[in-house]
Amino acid sequence: MAVIVQKYGGTSVGNVERIFNVARRISQTVSAGHRVAVVVSAMGHSTDELIALAKSISASPPEREMAMLLATGEQVTIALLAMALQELGCPAVSFTGSQAGVLTDGVPLNARIEQFSALRVREALQAGRVAVVAGFQGADANAEINTLGRGGSDTTAVALAAAIDAEVCEIYTDVDGVFTADPRVVPDARKQQEITYDEMLEMASQGAKVLHPRAVECGKENNVVIHVRSSFHSEPGTLVKEETGMEKGTAISGIAWDEDQAKIAVVGVPDKPGIAALIFGAIAQGGISVDLIVQSIRREGENDILFTVHADDLDKALLILEPLTKAIGAKELYHQRDVAKISVVGAGMVHHSGVAAGMFCALASEEINIEIISTSEIRISCLIEKSRVYDAARAIHRFFKLADDVADLEKSNLAPSFTSRNNQVCRGIQ
Ligand code: ADP
Ligand code: ASP
Ligand code: MG
Repeated sequence: MAVIVQKYGGTSVGNVERIFNVARRISQTVSAGHRVAVVVSAMGHSTDELIALAKSISASPPEREMAMLLATGEQVTIALLAMALQELGCPAVSFTGSQAGVLTDGVPLNARIEQFSALRVREALQAGRVAVVAGFQGADANAEINTLGRGGSDTTAVALAAAIDAEVCEIYTDVDGVFTADPRVVPDARKQQEITYDEMLEMASQGAKVLHPRAVECGKENNVVIHVRSSFHSEPGTLVKEETGMEKGTAISGIAWDEDQAKIAVVGVPDKPGIAALIFGAIAQGGISVDLIVQSIRREGENDILFTVHADDLDKALLILEPLTKAIGAKELYHQRDVAKISVVGAGMVHHSGVAAGMFCALASEEINIEIISTSEIRISCLIEKSRVYDAARAIHRFFKLADDVADLEKSNLAPSFTSRNNQVCRGIQ
């Protein structure tokens, strides 16, 4: 008998029929002799609907009330799923995040889990009941409700699996697993059998929405095997774990993109020590995270500093920067919303040269301009025009032949079969 955590996302519990399907799957797992704790998201698009409702009342709703509102979405699902399970004769009990013992750090809309006691979940499992826990929410030490950020139910699930020492954390979703790119945009994307925590973390952090980045982080820290799979059939999906034996030597594990970026440029900044510290210090004090950063030397004595922030933080960043840029004597403050970041991720990259060249080549073949480039050991990211991001994803996927069973560099940028609108550009590396 194993203890298993199953998490069902919004689409998987989008209506009554689907809730019953989920209940049937859970009850089959129970009948097979396992103890099951379930984490669920809000039904369908209900979180988006709650956000829209709040925005129809206030342009910038207070964060505390927003967390209070958004937490209701998951509460609807836990109650309905527990009812459906009982209807099928499977004993079940629902818990809010706080009842399940999710202690959060007090940040209303982007809280981290500090502790997960799971006391009542354990009691329920011992009593032979399915515990149905609301994802995405917890309460801080003052009993204030916090939410974990969009997609945060995944994190609840993995943290619960760690807390109750589950054998596996199954993330049931509306795709068959983790693909080399979002299969809705890149139709020939390939499902991966396995992926390492580090690669998955990089994919998730770069915008692959299939798993919440903090869920992967939590899985890695606690060595929880995460199985991402479809809620519509029972074929195995993708295992996220420490070591993957399957695809050794693969340079690239996937492509991810983030369409919610905004670019800020502080133009004509005096070239002297302390200026970058002032700019980024002020931004950090405003609680805003900066992503890509470039400093370019324009002319003697002056620089341009370019960086990106989450699109939702742009207005706040500009409010901070307007007086500051004047104070430091910068010439201009410029911003752009319609940008996106596209990234190629792969642990094998470190041993292969040519991934960056290949990526730039694929972008060039589509005449997509690169605005900012940033790299890590296992990632290369480019900031491009938002309207071209899907073209970029398809071109990069094609270029590296990621649809093939074993995608490796030898088969990609060295292949003579590369056909592009502008393959002149890439001749040098073929
Ligand atoms: P859930 O509601 O189940 O949490 P999400 O919408 O949060 O589902 O995540 C699943 C979605 O992630 C898929 O429908 C797919 O469009 C998207 N996605 C993005 N990148 C990938 C990828 N590399 N592999 C699989 N799905 C991806
Ligand atoms: N309901 C939340 C959201 O839509 C959390 C989740 O689904 O994981 O972001
Ligand atoms: Mg999700």
